Amino acid sequence: MNIDANKTVWDQEADVVVIGAGATGLPAAIVARETGASVILLEAEADIGGHAITSGGNVPLGGGTAAQIAAGIHDTPDLVFRDNTDWSVVQPNGFPDYRYNDREIVRAFADYNVATYDWLVAHGVVFVDKAPDDWGGTSIGNSVLREMHAAAMHWPLVQTGAPEPAATAPTRSTGNGLMRPLEVAAKKAGVRTLLEHRMTAIYRDGRVVGVQANHKGKALNIRARQAVVVGTGGHTGNVNFRRMFDPRLTEEYCGLGGMPWSNQDASGEIAAMAIGASLWGLYNQTGEFGIHLTKPGTIGCQYNYRGVKWMPGSKVFDRARASGLSVEDWQNVVMVNMLGARFYDETEGNFSSNNYDQVRPYAYGDWRNPRNVVYKPNNWVNAAMAGLADGQNGGGPIWAIFDAEAVKREKWNPAPPDVDTEHGFFFSAGTLGELAAKIVMKYQRVPMPPAALEATIARYNGFVDAGSDPDFGKPRPAYKIATPPFYAAWATPVPHDSRTGLRINAKCQVLDLNGKIIPGLYCGGESAGGFSQHGLARAAVQGLIAGQNAVREESA
Ligand SMILES: Cc1cc2nc3c(=O)[nH]c(=O)nc-3n(C[C@H](O)[C@H](O)[C@H](O)COP(=O)(O)OP(=O)(O)OC[C@H]3O[C@@H](n4cnc5c(N)ncnc54)[C@H](O)[C@@H]3O)c2cc1C
Repeated sequence: MNIDANKTVWDQEADVVVIGAGATGLPAAIVARETGASVILLEAEADIGGHAITSGGNVPLGGGTAAQIAAGIHDTPDLVFRDNTDWSVVQPNGFPDYRYNDREIVRAFADYNVATYDWLVAHGVVFVDKAPDDWGGTSIGNSVLREMHAAAMHWPLVQTGAPEPAATAPTRSTGNGLMRPLEVAAKKAGVRTLLEHRMTAIYRDGRVVGVQANHKGKALNIRARQAVVVGTGGHTGNVNFRRMFDPRLTEEYCGLGGMPWSNQDASGEIAAMAIGASLWGLYNQTGEFGIHLTKPGTIGCQYNYRGVKWMPGSKVFDRARASGLSVEDWQNVVMVNMLGARFYDETEGNFSSNNYDQVRPYAYGDWRNPRNVVYKPNNWVNAAMAGLADGQNGGGPIWAIFDAEAVKREKWNPAPPDVDTEHGFFFSAGTLGELAAKIVMKYQRVPMPPAALEATIARYNGFVDAGSDPDFGKPRPAYKIATPPFYAAWATPVPHDSRTGLRINAKCQVLDLNGKIIPGLYCGGESAGGFSQHGLARAAVQGLIAGQNAVREESA
């Protein structure tokens, strides 16, 4: 929003205002404060951490870290750069992970990996004491092992409210092992963290001069004498914003990974665009690699990302409402669309993405690399989002149908708080016909015809007898669905991360549509575009770069 800074009544002020206390914002705020600036850190939610604190805490930092050297892994910033810009690496569906990355942004990332690793360790993050591996990474480079793991230590897990048992606390990787030490470091450094302060606008008077924030219904003006850093974490929870990249992503994709701890509502992108900022590297959002869209990990609840199970002890359980049923074996369910029809092999999964040694043999930029990948164009997620032939966008709800025998095999408890019956994410009935008729909820835009579900299951049970699935090639369908009660559990794909956002340069300054720097505005992490890498390393590196450069701005 354009304003006159001299005529504005400011409620609070600091040299640097950082928006979002997540993987980008906390490092940005701490480094800015330690460099001498006064810092206000605004966080929309009642606690810090963002998606980062719900994460697996797997951090792909390479380039020659002390951990890599100790493990005898030879890595350099140049290798990180080359890996993350290699045009020749493609996924089995043909999509390239790295081809559309912005070289300037990846170069800055590569050059800052080692410094970021050292900085995290110096600020209290304990990494699991083992050699870097390839666990948990997506699109992190083919050449060497880089994945580090933040140890859970004694911090309570946000998913359960309880700490990890002492025996596994130093060896299990979790996001709170990354974020809680940074929260402590921010307090120690003197960062003023304002919880439940949601930024609603960025103010520009030629340069960026502050932000508007909403605190419990009250609008506040917060002045930034030097700079504002956007670390708001992306856009995949904003239906209109995400549909710019993929029109299929309509309202029913409501189970975002990381929610309900925090949302990705595109507020940072929208506020920056309102003062002229450009988006950047848009292919990376639609490119079918990594985990920006996933098959659910749990069924029967709204927040069903595979890596998170919300338990009653969590302080956001009132928002999560149910833990969901973890699926050990997808042979136990048949997945149907709104009309009760099967659409794909239930045991199939997500897009893949590049990691250490996945292209083998591999040589940088070699035209032969794609030949070492077995072509596999389709997956479960795309089939689930294909939808009905009714001319509408969005695949609609996907339901996992199972019976009482499946409940026994999986040792499920098909009742609250494990499933969400109250809000229409889980149904049960004595017959399949009754089950179909009961499926009424806000995203089920057409009734499921009872006869259609009965016919689908009868046909599937025949495949179990025959030992093959001529419709979708499910390997040896194992179990009939025949014993009442019958169940329908929400199993709709989950949007996960943002790989596109504001246009930034190597200093994490935000640029406008003419490629000009917007003075005083910085961004990093999932709200920044140009670099398709999943997650924490990108966010932490860019947070540090943004925080350091924000302090170098002239005071307004
Ligand atoms: C379940 C899960 C597991 C994951 N596992 C891994 C992993 O193992 N390894 C990995 O590398 N990555 C992982 N990720 C991804 C990683 O957590 C994110 O990429 C990373 O946290 C992004 O950092 P960020 O700073 O951009 O956003 P976040 O960490 O989400 O922080 C953004 C913060 O901004 C706040 N905010 C948003 N809008 C506003 C506003 N208007 N005003 C004030 N505050 C606002 C949010 O509430 C939030 O606290 C995982 C993500 C999830 C959800």
